[in-house]
Order: sequence, then structure tokens, then C-alpha cells
Amino acid sequence: MERMPANGVEVRELDNVSERGALVDPFGRDISYLRVSVTDRCDFRCVYCMAENMAFLPKADLLSLEELDRLCSAFIGRGVRKLRLTGGEPLVRRGIMTLVASLSRHLDSGRLDELTLTTNGSQLGKFAAELKAHGVRRLNVSLDTLDADKFRSITRWGSLDQVLSGIDAAQAAGLEIKINTVALKGVNEDEFPRLIEWAHGRGMDLTLIEVMPLGEIGEGRLEQYLPLSMVRARLAERYHLDEIDYRTGGPARYVRIAETGGRLGFITPLTHNFCESCNRVRITCTGTLYMCLGQEDAADLRRPLRASEGNELLLAAIDEAIARKPKGHDFVIDRRHRRPALARHMSVTGG
Ligand code: SAM
Repeated sequence: MERMPANGVEVRELDNVSERGALVDPFGRDISYLRVSVTDRCDFRCVYCMAENMAFLPKADLLSLEELDRLCSAFIGRGVRKLRLTGGEPLVRRGIMTLVASLSRHLDSGRLDELTLTTNGSQLGKFAAELKAHGVRRLNVSLDTLDADKFRSITRWGSLDQVLSGIDAAQAAGLEIKINTVALKGVNEDEFPRLIEWAHGRGMDLTLIEVMPLGEIGEGRLEQYLPLSMVRARLAERYHLDEIDYRTGGPARYVRIAETGGRLGFITPLTHNFCESCNRVRITCTGTLYMCLGQEDAADLRRPLRASEGNELLLAAIDEAIARKPKGHDFVIDRRHRRPALARHMSVTGG
């Protein structure tokens, strides 16, 4: 496939890679999946994700596109095979296509198996074809409802039509799409069959996600939380759900729905602890490395990144951080824990 040239981003190649080897945490888990939040900004204000009047980071605190490239490349040099760009909304970061173009060289070289994004879909009409041209094969698109009014009230600022045309554009460009739907009690729980049949009818997988207690959002989490064990039991009354072995390298567990022939995933951080097979770390748009989505411990990679031209300090900081990756998280949502388990929002760590 023809790829666009990596114009604009200065390409700094990997050093000290072979000497340091792959990243393995203290529990023997290979770190092969990196999720990078390229901006904390978003054109939506989903009620479970952000408060309406979010204060965003000053631009000067953000890593530049060159720094993001250098950081991702350092991880790829240490064995990361799957890279997901997220946010905030990754497609509202200015110059994002320059970064995607530049990172695609690792697909060409065979060091990276997959370059992908999680997006709200609002900008896909603009960018789908370019993403495909840069070697992106699959996207996760977040969509919680097919009802235009409900969509507006969940996202506060979003337009369902725009997202649906974005999905059309992505499919027309040949991108494979997985729909991610956050299960919200009393909001979209009656819509899962419709969403499943719509997604499967268009050849897209759909994954349901439990609300996680991340960030102060100005509303009760308990009111939003819907255990997927319950959703699954209800769906099983309507459809045949066949357990399948399908994995995408992420935390979802899949079933095939006999009636639609499509796959349905469940991401259940609260009802099922998926940490034992965790192969992921996350970097924020300011270069903070979180070894676990559900724990506070983090490492600042911006300082070593900026401290020298070479990657020696950066690689040492990465090693030191991976040696502290915890065994797992311990999210709880109950009446005794009315505050978020973690103060930072999903839009900071990257969903
Ligand atoms: N803007 C992009 C999008 O909408 O997909 C990427 C970032 S967004 C933070 C990534 C995913 O996290 C979305 O599917 C969103 O619904 C989900 N999300 C945000 N806050 C969450 C929470 N507290 N619990 C569960 N999922 C959440």
C-alpha cells in the first residue's frame, strides 16, 4: 500500500534499543501496547467523562508532535507492537496527521503491528481517507446512542448526524470500525439491542464498557453505573451468546451473537478484574506515564525527554517506571465511595 511521506516531523531514530531489550514488568507481563493521549481537549463534553466547564492544559505543557513521535518510537524500540492514539479527541489535535504519517514508518519497517485511534467520530469525514493512506486499518468509535436527542444530552455538544457521516466515510475508506458504547443506567440500557443490530448489520463489532470512577464530573457515578453482568444476562434472554476466543490485545471479552453473526465485547473493570493479562501502559499529552489506568502512580517522561537529545535518560526512566507497574487496580463504586476513585479524568489518561 502507498503511504504518505512523513513530512513535517523530524524523525529521530531509535538508539540503545537492542541493549535494553523488551519491557517486562515485575509480574512477567510483556508491555506491548501503548496508548497515547495526544490532547486533553475534546469537541464533546460527555457527561460521564468531563464536566461542562473543564479547565484544559495550557498549550505550552503539551508535548510537541516531534516529542510525541520520539516517545512513541522509544517504546516501539522496546517492544511495543500496538499503538493507540487517543485523547481528549485525538483528531482535534492540530497537525495530528503529521504525527500519524510519521509513525507509519514503524508499520513499514515491521516493528509495529498496529497503529490505531479511539475517536468520537466527529472528524472522520475529514480524516478517514488520510488515516487509511497512512496504514491505519481499524478504529474504535465511541457511540452511546442512536437517538439524536439523547446523543446531544450525553455528549452535551455533539451531533449524531456528524458522527454517523464520519462512520460512513471511514467505512467507505476501507477502515474497519469497532463501536464502543458506555453502558449508562437509565440512559441507554434499553437501546443495546438496537445498537447491536445496527452495528452488526454494518459489519462492525460492538463493545459495551462499564462506567469507571475517573474524575470529578459533577454528577453521581452510582446513578450511572450499570453492571455488565446484568446487561449480559438480559441480552442472553433475547439472543444466543456464544463464547468465543477472539482477542484484540485489549481487555474486552467477546461473544458471538448467533442471530446477527456479529461480535459483542464486554469491558468490565468493575465486575471482573482484567488486570492479570494487562499488557498496556498509557502516556498523557504532557508526557506522564501511567502504568495502570486505575492507580495514581506515574512517571514523568517529559523531563528526561527534554533533558537531552539522546534517548538514554528517557529509556532509563521508562525502565524504572515499568519496574513499578502494579499488579492491578481496585475500582469500587458503592455508597461508601461517592467520590471518584481517581481524581484524573479519562480525557487526561486517554480512554
Ligand atoms: N474522544 C475519543 C472518544 O470519544 O473515543 C477518545 C477519548 S475518550 C476518553 C475514550 C473512551 O473513554 C470513550 O469511549 C469514552 O466513552 C470512554 N470514557 C470516558 N470516561 C469514561 C468513564 N468514566 N468510564 C468509562 N468509559 C469512559
